[in-house]
Amino acid sequence: ATINLTLFTEQIVERFQMSTKNESILFKIKVPSKDVFIIGDRDKLTQLMDNILSNAVKYSPEGGTISCVVKEEKERVIVTIKDEGVGIPKENIPYVFDRFYRVDKARSRNLGGTGLGLAIAKEIVLAHGGNIWVSSDWGKGTAISFSLPYDEAVNEDEDDRTY
Ligand code: ATP
Ligand code: MG
Repeated sequence: ATINLTLFTEQIVERFQMSTKNESILFKIKVPSKDVFIIGDRDKLTQLMDNILSNAVKYSPEGGTISCVVKEEKERVIVTIKDEGVGIPKENIPYVFDRFYRVDKARSRNLGGTGLGLAIAKEIVLAHGGNIWVSSDWGKGTAISFSLPYDEAVNEDEDDRTY
């Protein structure tokens, strides 16, 4: 289906904001001034955002800021979710999208999880013709970005817009 990624992202971030009210995490969102459309599976893309945002929350300290930026490029849209959490050591970065991989079992044991969230996220992004990557500084924070190809037909023809 055609999805208004601007609106879609705002709605998901809003839902996370509501559900983490008592953890004092600050959410910031920046989207393009105009609507951006992509073609995708709404449920899968919701799971993609949930997996990335739930990590950002899980690995953030009290009072941390999580920012979500939607940026248009020529032929694709890039979504970046950035946190001020524990970060990922450089040597572990290449493996975070592997199934069942978790950085430092001791550190993440009490936080819970199976190590599947990002593997599933990657699967979903690839199935949509996009890419996903991570940049992180240990102790400073993590940014997960993914790209999705534009729905060019809709972005060029205003009359086709359904939302
Ligand atoms: P699950 O998502 O299955 O509940 P999980 O969160 O441990 O478990 P992934 O989401 O796949 O698994 O993430 C893999 C590992 O990458 C995590 O265990 C964690 O060590 C590291 N990681 C992922 N996101 C972040 C983040 N935002 N900040 C710090 N470390 C992260
Ligand atoms: Mg996870």
